[in-house]
Amino acid sequence: MIKAISPSLLNTLRRNYSSNVSPTTKLFIDGKFLNSKATEWVDLFDPATNKLVTQVPISTNDEMEAAVESSKTAFRSWSKTSVLTRQQLMLKFQAVIRRDIKKLAQNITLEQGKTLIDAEGDVMRGLQVVEHSCAAGTLLQGESLQNISTDMDIVSYKLPLGVVAGICPFNFPAMIPLWMLPLALIAGNTVILKPSEKDPGATMLLMELLNEVGCPPGIVNVIHGTHNSVNFICDNKDIKAISFVGSDTAGKYIYARGASNGKRVQSNMGAKNHAVVLPDANKESTINQLIGAAFGAAGQRCMALSVVILVGESQNWIPDIVERARKLKVSAGHEPGTDVGPVISRQAKERILKLIESGISQGAKCPLDGRGVLVENYPNGNFIGPTLLTDVQPSYECYKEEIFGPVLCVMSADTLEDAINIINTNPYGNGTAVFTTNGGHARQFVNEIDVGQVGINVPIPVPLPMFSFTGSRGSFHGDLHFYGKQGLNFYTQTKTITSLWRKSEMSSAPSVSMPVH
Ligand code: NAD
Repeated sequence: MIKAISPSLLNTLRRNYSSNVSPTTKLFIDGKFLNSKATEWVDLFDPATNKLVTQVPISTNDEMEAAVESSKTAFRSWSKTSVLTRQQLMLKFQAVIRRDIKKLAQNITLEQGKTLIDAEGDVMRGLQVVEHSCAAGTLLQGESLQNISTDMDIVSYKLPLGVVAGICPFNFPAMIPLWMLPLALIAGNTVILKPSEKDPGATMLLMELLNEVGCPPGIVNVIHGTHNSVNFICDNKDIKAISFVGSDTAGKYIYARGASNGKRVQSNMGAKNHAVVLPDANKESTINQLIGAAFGAAGQRCMALSVVILVGESQNWIPDIVERARKLKVSAGHEPGTDVGPVISRQAKERILKLIESGISQGAKCPLDGRGVLVENYPNGNFIGPTLLTDVQPSYECYKEEIFGPVLCVMSADTLEDAINIINTNPYGNGTAVFTTNGGHARQFVNEIDVGQVGINVPIPVPLPMFSFTGSRGSFHGDLHFYGKQGLNFYTQTKTITSLWRKSEMSSAPSVSMPVH
């Protein structure tokens, strides 16, 4: 059971949540935590109180150049280490992350606002990728074929790219860096990470853990900033690939700028995830799942359910959804029993409130309105209570925009086909789910839906690390997805070797025609 953090511990965390990141967030360059010489800083506030937690530097050009130099130098030796050495590092890394899950979660709750138990889930889903990477010996195997022609063999190797970069969003401060680091490192690359300027603390704690397990300096470097550091990453000639997770605006920009500079880019972007509820679904379980997926993490998950399409008689379930959502406890993430924490910032709160208002003014009904929620002891936090907008139409702003808050839009459809059509017309393709007890309907949904990640009676179908995170259409730019086999392919290039070892005789006369074996 998660206990409340005592006020004294919270204060200690605020002032000194890591020996290396207080009172300003440090850079991590060549294995050392360094004070930045930045002239510009981003204030980071606790979303539950809006008290200052730390200041995050906008890294200077010299600092970012130093990070690249360190990564380049480290690559020379790291790419030559044995696979077993890299595997040993990851085995040790997973052990210390597991040991420090609560510490990491406390930092996430402080900086990002989500509940402690949800923050532990954030770490856990990243840890699973670290664990998966420990199977390096199998994951990194290439292919081979003997006697492809007489006395001729072909083998292929998966080799690292060089220095690769990761640009992270605020909503999963541990999981997303851990979608990137383990496979990039196990493949022999070195990594420059730019965590979100809104909550870099978890990344800094992960760097402490890498140092603790003996990670060689320069294997990972951390720079901070916003557009400046993103542009630096996109343009730097020594950075070979970029992994990005975040909003559409940034993702499209980074994809275009990085690709035009010849880099490999994978860009996971925004979402509008729909659930379809058929009247034959298990009512109790479905309503509970809808509420968890819509309002968990205050709706700030890329796989949050932001739209539910009620088909036929399931439209009568709205009062039950309202009653159950109303019971969720809204408070600071470290308070016991909290279901819905604050959203990340005052600006995010304002934006979400505006989208709720626009929905109502365009014709939506609001049977559950979380706009005026009062949270005891936290008058200054960025809280919005669970909100339901019903009768939503595809033309409404609240439907077209990703709200990224605790707001569930409810739509209606007469048939499963109509519901599928609504979803396939939406530009996003991150995730979707259908709730039904009818296998035929489930199968039809899977076959006809044009979305990269589908749940059947599973509301947040985030694949485990032996698969890949396969958002599609407007939610993804690139060719190779995060983690799983595709993730490893993203961080490797293939070298194919064709060899001819003929015992009897070598070529006796020149041949100028194309060899066809
Ligand atoms: P964001 O795009 O604002 O920030 C992400 C990163 O990009 C940050 O490091 C930030 O410094 C940088 N950045 C922000 N604006 C930029 C710009 N205009 N140009 C260049 N760089 C910029 O995203 P966020 O608000 O931190 O995260 C929430 C978004 O991320 C949501 O849209 C959510 O759906 C998405 N997300 C997607 C996935 C996925 O896998 N598809 C996962 C998590 C979050």
